[in-house]
Amino acid sequence: MHGGSERLDRTIEELTKLPTIGRKTAQRLALHLIKTPAEEVAALVDAILDMKKNVRYCSECGALTEADPCPICGDTRRDRHTICVVEEPLDVVAIEKTDAYRGLYHVLHGAISPVDGVGPDELRLKELVERLRHNPVREVILATNPSLEGEATAMYLERQIAPLGAHITRLARGLPVGGDLEYADTVTLTRALEGRRKV
Ligand SMILES: [Zn+2]
Repeated sequence: MHGGSERLDRTIEELTKLPTIGRKTAQRLALHLIKTPAEEVAALVDAILDMKKNVRYCSECGALTEADPCPICGDTRRDRHTICVVEEPLDVVAIEKTDAYRGLYHVLHGAISPVDGVGPDELRLKELVERLRHNPVREVILATNPSLEGEATAMYLERQIAPLGAHITRLARGLPVGGDLEYADTVTLTRALEGRRKV
């Protein structure tokens, strides 16, 4: 109990369900919200509810979008023969920022990680195989993170999609090992894309 308020306890309880938010941080956030003017708290709650209602995953590529299909999948000027495979929706945002890529995307929503109980079935791999079967794709760029999980995922993917005939490439080295694509700077990411190599 915090001075006898069950309402405060409830907020702290809900906040601790968020990733990276421990008990201490949840308490600090809750106490901060009590001090914050009501209209600011309302704006925060409204933004979260509005996002939850209107932002979804594209049914084709799995990227974050407010329209389905997303503006990238729906853009007929994009190169539909190239698919860049990434782990997370924010990786799409990072690559789009480079302006160096004009193809389509496929978001896996994670990477294979036995330690965390994530196997191939938990990722959007079947959807990728289906897309390759039904679309004239010439190149698949495996742009998973330069981490153990990312490398393992890329190797698994390569075995799965090699029989489908598209050229398979990997991003050039130079990305910080163990880092996330979404945090790579634009210049590094552009170089990695331009220097991609066959696997
Ligand atoms: Zn899409």
